[in-house]
Amino acid sequence: MPKTIKDIDIEGKRVFIRCDFNVPKDDEGNITDDRRIREALPTIRYCLDRDCKIILASHYERPTPGIYEEKYSLKPIKLRLRKLLKLDDEIQIADDVIGPDAKEKAANLKAGEILLLENLRYEAGETTNDEAFAKELAKFADIYINDAFGACHRKHASIYALAQQFAPENRAVGFLMNKEIIFFHKVIENPTRPFVAVVGGSKVSGKLQALINLVEKVDKIIIGGGMAFTFLKANGFEIGNSLVEDDLIKDAKRIMKRAEERDVKVYLPVDLVVADKFSSEATIKYLPIQEIPEDWMGLDIGPATSKLFGEALNDAQTIIWNGPMGVYEIDKFSKGSIEMSHNIAQSHAVTIVGGGDTADVTARAGDIEEMSFVSTGGGASLELIEGKKLPGIAVLLK
Ligand code: AMP
Repeated sequence: MPKTIKDIDIEGKRVFIRCDFNVPKDDEGNITDDRRIREALPTIRYCLDRDCKIILASHYERPTPGIYEEKYSLKPIKLRLRKLLKLDDEIQIADDVIGPDAKEKAANLKAGEILLLENLRYEAGETTNDEAFAKELAKFADIYINDAFGACHRKHASIYALAQQFAPENRAVGFLMNKEIIFFHKVIENPTRPFVAVVGGSKVSGKLQALINLVEKVDKIIIGGGMAFTFLKANGFEIGNSLVEDDLIKDAKRIMKRAEERDVKVYLPVDLVVADKFSSEATIKYLPIQEIPEDWMGLDIGPATSKLFGEALNDAQTIIWNGPMGVYEIDKFSKGSIEMSHNIAQSHAVTIVGGGDTADVTARAGDIEEMSFVSTGGGASLELIEGKKLPGIAVLLK
């Protein structure tokens, strides 16, 4: 485990906090979910209470480097942050990342003040892990804190090269990062059993490595969403026009065989909501998996499956969930995912939700507060489940 902010001396120092403020916005530019900003507050408050000069930095979406397009600016983040921190004073924002404005504002920063740098990806060096760029960023601070779990699977300058600019006693993870690592690590390596993985989403390919790793650790695997059809086809079912990855049927078989060897129970849908087209206008039928019509496609799990999956979760002590059970973005096909969210939320297990879509389902279902932990990192949490080492964590252990 990397050092945490509590393990190092930050009192009165200049602290650079890499946050993940890459929050979703609607067409009007309003922030629709500020969880990532709220989750960053404990670390920021901890530094405020210790009279630090605080430099905050984050990426936001994918601007073209060198072009300061307003829609990629962190200004809306600054406003929300100030509101959430309930500060009387303004949070400053620099017009640039390592340019003259950032340098001047950083140099004039007083104890207990916050400066937010502009979108790190305005600079080309961010995504190329450029050392010269990292060295410029490092000049702003004495201490480096990484609290950007959602970006830790990327070997980018503010995550990797920048951490290398600081001595081990001057760098650490923040509270959010620490929470994310502890949850995933402890749960996956040392779960209270029965340990159940609920996996869904569109494709097996995106989660193949996670499935291969999970089958070695869990007691049950529940598979829903589009990826279930590759497994159903592997078991000989006709799946009509449903999403399928024929080239992964052998992998699906291999996973099921390994599950059998380890006595891991695998649960697949027994009925579905099938539709004549991928649309909110589609005609739908509730059918057992044996009866999917040739030209129709399964877009959600059916009521019998929800019940079956619910029962499989009854005795769970640990549940990890990644991937919706159907095309939850369309109302008609959202029931299976909402029901899964309720089932997990109502269980007495330690419950961990990973992945942006899955967190979104949980929020829509009104269950977020009922879960033990909802990860702020989609790709990063998946890589931890896959058993990979995240660059942002590995570099801090060097
Ligand atoms: P992922 O990013 O792999 O977790 O996949 C999430 C996406 O899977 C969501 O956008 C869902 O709409 C989609 N999805 C879930 N079930 C199905 C299905 N049966 N057919 C097609 N897409 C699905």
